[in-house]
Amino acid sequence: MRLLIVEDEKKTAAYLKKGLVENGFVVDIAANGEDGAHFALTNDYDLIILDIMLPGKDGWSVITEIRKEGKETPVLFLTARDSIEDKVKGLKLGADDYLIKPFSFSELLARVRSILRRAPGRQPELLKVADLEVDLARHKATRGGKRLDLSPKEFILLSFLMRRKGEVISRTLIAEQVWDMNFDSDTNVVDVAIRRLRSKVDDPFTSKLIHTVRGMGYVLEENKKE
Ligand code: CA
Repeated sequence: MRLLIVEDEKKTAAYLKKGLVENGFVVDIAANGEDGAHFALTNDYDLIILDIMLPGKDGWSVITEIRKEGKETPVLFLTARDSIEDKVKGLKLGADDYLIKPFSFSELLARVRSILRRAPGRQPELLKVADLEVDLARHKATRGGKRLDLSPKEFILLSFLMRRKGEVISRTLIAEQVWDMNFDSDTNVVDVAIRRLRSKVDDPFTSKLIHTVRGMGYVLEENKKE
């Protein structure tokens, strides 16, 4: 998840960035409205945290500009202004939420997560196929309510297959996405990892969820005839 913080107070920006990075986000900072609008238009962020009082172009102008360009990135306004008119104005301009300074980091994080959860097309925190569940927030996988003991790589692999459930995924794509490497010549690594994952996810159960599609790759889905 990649976030943009548009904030001219260096200390606030640094504090937010640190906390968000610690929570697994990739964070860019823009120190003024010009840069903020430019970054927001040239990158694909999952969320923009936008201060209102900015030098030059204020937060309202930034959101107006990016919405006019058709960017629907969710926006969380961050501001010392606390009048109800400002709140209404922000929401009317297409902000998703509004947080008034001073605020606690835990409150900000909760708002960020709730916006990301309800944003259209965003990845849910709980992935489910049949009785198999992956809870991304808690880093926990269960099948039939029983916890699966997965290594970190197996967890990432399973989450990836579940996000793309029903899609046949090639070994090369799995290698790139899960190992972040180009395994062009040696996709055997993928087969080994899949075998190990199956021994935990499928072997103890009657209905199998991970299927091999000969010559193509793998697919995770329910009731596939092999
Ligand atoms: Ca400011």
